[in-house]
Amino acid sequence: MRHIAIIGSGPAGYYTAEAAQKAFGDDVRVDIFDLLPVPYGLIRSGVAPDHQSIKGVSRRYEKTALSDNVRFAGNVAVGRDVTVPELQELYDAVVLATGAPQDRPLEIPGAELGNVFGSAAFVGWYNGHPQFADLDPDLSGETAVVIGMGNVALDVARILAKTRREFEGSDIVSHALEALDKSAIERIVVVGRRGPHQIMMTPKELGELGELERAAPHVDPLDLPDEAEDALLEPGLRKSVTLLRGFAAAPEYVRAEKPLSIAFDFFAQPVALHGTDRVEFLEVERTEVVTGRAAGTGETYRIPASLVVSCIGYRTTPIPNVPFDERAGRFANDEGRILPGLYCVGWARRGPSGTIGTNRPDGYALVEKIREDIESGALGSASKQGRSGFDALAEQRGLDVVTFRDWKKIEEAEEKAAREGAPREKFVDIEAMIRARD
Ligand code: NAP
Repeated sequence: MRHIAIIGSGPAGYYTAEAAQKAFGDDVRVDIFDLLPVPYGLIRSGVAPDHQSIKGVSRRYEKTALSDNVRFAGNVAVGRDVTVPELQELYDAVVLATGAPQDRPLEIPGAELGNVFGSAAFVGWYNGHPQFADLDPDLSGETAVVIGMGNVALDVARILAKTRREFEGSDIVSHALEALDKSAIERIVVVGRRGPHQIMMTPKELGELGELERAAPHVDPLDLPDEAEDALLEPGLRKSVTLLRGFAAAPEYVRAEKPLSIAFDFFAQPVALHGTDRVEFLEVERTEVVTGRAAGTGETYRIPASLVVSCIGYRTTPIPNVPFDERAGRFANDEGRILPGLYCVGWARRGPSGTIGTNRPDGYALVEKIREDIESGALGSASKQGRSGFDALAEQRGLDVVTFRDWKKIEEAEEKAAREGAPREKFVDIEAMIRARD
């Protein structure tokens, strides 16, 4: 029997568990640990609350979770409650599937001003992540600035723009719904340091901006490159650029029908944030794209900003005793191998890129590495204690481990508490989750 510990119950964790089950069948036991008492990581706390069809993938993870050889152990902080070397003593393979939950810092003067948030915090707020549920952003100003031209920037702009009615059927937490309902924001500026040909936004997500009830996207036609140049783009990006062209071509009277604008400000490199205690302006420098990179032109200007959300990427949280690549912001690894018996997968391995589905081949490829290491003898003989050893340690330390059966009780309580038409009302603090289990 081989024992695998997976740290993190998001997509990378569950696809790895599924792959291990397929590869080793009854000869493996997999324990999936999570810091929170609830599973699914990014599916629960990252995917936008109005993208319920994407969240539906958790049903597939549940199938894996309910099988006899896979176990969920929530409310366990690896690095605090139990260390990685301790887990390595107990399990043949320890797989870090911890994602990239920290914001890449916006390293400009004024970034510490009030009402400036990173997307991990802001998304965590509207998705009810216990760490960020109390964020309490001030939405009483007129202009919100979203920095970055990726799908997270799109999520944030769209959530800021939606009406209460447009959240029907979503699982946005009530505190965010109420705050957004009272929002005074009239203008959302999405700032990118490069141009339309360099956006990271995918067409389906970008297209949603064109279908909002009270908001319309604004693109300056002068920012768009010559249309003939679109032919050189890969098909997905070409579709996104075609959407931008459509937004730019919309007649002014059509846009004017919508009271809220989502303006794209291309070729604008953030330089500084200004304000007394709260942010008031974002200062940017005009750029040109030179061989794919943003080059400053020296011309600067200020964009009014009563709220700033920086959506410029994420970093993995380091864990004591685990080699870390500071520059890349993820664990130092060679195709998922960190040290003998210690692996990483998903964003913790490759950084914050790709879709949920990208983690499936990633998980399967990692299990192949584990199989190779078992076959080569690199993981030693099958003599580890696995879950019985962990259970003894947990008891000795008085850990309150939350099982998958406990999670199902928490889930049931969240479903019962749902607003009409919503799938659930999430608990936003750990104590409330635990109480719902008891
Ligand atoms: P991303 O796609 O890498 O986009 C990050 C953006 O931030 C880029 O436009 C980048 O510009 C900009 N940026 C980085 N550093 C900057 C700086 N110092 N100053 C100004 N701008 C800066 O990352 P993401 O939006 O966080 O998304 C992460 C991953 O999750 C992506 O793979 C994304 O597709 C995925 N995701 C998918 C969905 C969905 O499918 N519905 C939803 C959300 C997220 P440069 O290009 O110039 O560096």
